[in-house]
Amino acid sequence: MRRRTFLQSTTLLGLAATNQQKNFVPEPVIIATWKNEKGTKAGWDKIMQTGKALDGVEAGAWVPEADPNETTVGYGGYPDRDGHVTLDACIMDHLGNAGSVTFLEGIMHPISVARAVMEKTPHVMLSGAGALQFALEQGFKKENLLTEKSKKAWEEWKKVAKYEPKVNIERHDTIGLLALGKAGEIAGACSTSGMAFKMHGRVGDSPIIGGAVYCDDEVGGACATGLGEFVMKTLGSFLIVEFMRQGKSPQQACEDAIMRIVKRYKYQEFQVGYLAINKKGEYGAYAIQKGFNFTITKHGVTQVIESASYMS
Ligand code: ASP
Repeated sequence: MRRRTFLQSTTLLGLAATNQQKNFVPEPVIIATWKNEKGTKAGWDKIMQTGKALDGVEAGAWVPEADPNETTVGYGGYPDRDGHVTLDACIMDHLGNAGSVTFLEGIMHPISVARAVMEKTPHVMLSGAGALQFALEQGFKKENLLTEKSKKAWEEWKKVAKYEPKVNIERHDTIGLLALGKAGEIAGACSTSGMAFKMHGRVGDSPIIGGAVYCDDEVGGACATGLGEFVMKTLGSFLIVEFMRQGKSPQQACEDAIMRIVKRYKYQEFQVGYLAINKKGEYGAYAIQKGFNFTITKHGVTQVIESASYMS
């Protein structure tokens, strides 16, 4: 083949491959932190119905938010050290839109209030009394979220803890979710009642865009669970997405973000776990401590998978 013809045909082949990559639409998928089969299943069903990743992550968060036995999210969440259940949540779509609420009391589905902040206000974050006022204006109902079970646990805690907020390695079940919709678009969400028996007024990473959740439709998304102070100080989810943008796999990106915490702050007795997914639908997970797991629903099949960790 003459040189020019050869160059022309290889360029065409290259273009065809790039176009193929551009046209590649991955299968829908939804993943969530921890054992959240009902949540990912609800999210999956929603994606099958509306096609949208954003609807999927919101529906997925609804399940633990309404579950009184889930003591780290929504209704039944453990209160702060003064007995108030205060909620944090955020949501982000594939266009880079984001909404969040912090220190919200009395609303069972903070994830939907966060979505309303994103869709109906010019702001990203509403907090405390203002977030509640907005929620009520939007038609959300105010209710008591402190169950008898959580109240009892708080009263027991008060007897021994002397009002000292303590970091607990196991008690982290915040739900973080990532999904790819039918068009392959990414969305992410997070919802929590935060660290059990925290100081009144404490806000964690869960409503922080780039902390607990970050999505970029050119790259993928990431979400976090664990001691929010360290996720915030390293902007973990944003960091993971940027690592993936540099070409790292979701697994490698999660590992490097965990190592950022381990190296910078030296290892202490706390847990952080990350999940990530890229635009090909490949996913990864990594945590500081053993015991972190995550749930994935794909092709309608739900699986709980144990994550690797820094500490063995
Ligand atoms: N990340 C949450 C927070 O710090 C806690 C958790 O994941 O359980 O508020």
